[in-house]
Amino acid sequence: MDDAATLELAKRLRAELPSLLSTEEPGELGAITGELADLIERGEAGEPVTIQILRLLRGQPILRQRANELVKPMSERTGVIPPPGGIRVPLGPRYVCPNGDFEFFRRDVSQLVPTCPHDGANLILENPA
Ligand SMILES: [Zn+2]
Repeated sequence: MDDAATLELAKRLRAELPSLLSTEEPGELGAITGELADLIERGEAGEPVTIQILRLLRGQPILRQRANELVKPMSERTGVIPPPGGIRVPLGPRYVCPNGDFEFFRRDVSQLVPTCPHDGANLILENPA
């Protein structure tokens, strides 16, 4: 990871710090926030702070875990590749707005057919059997 990427990571984590570290230990949260802010400032001034930032993150299991999540590429994070061509699911009867700006698939007879959220028109059942 290069310096710019580490700095970006540090900024993301600084923004998330309050939610990552519980307020059970406000002193620790304050210390880490301060240290991280200082490193970001120095890094932006051109100082090589990558090692210090990584050392700070490694010292906190929660930060280390979150940092790993942030640097993982998107494909690895989702891990699910849709099958080629997609899956066709029977959607049920299709209701359309007479003004053509909304459609609704009634998957179950117990479902109420809504009115169009755009203009309030009653939806029309398309191709009634
Ligand atoms: Zn409509």
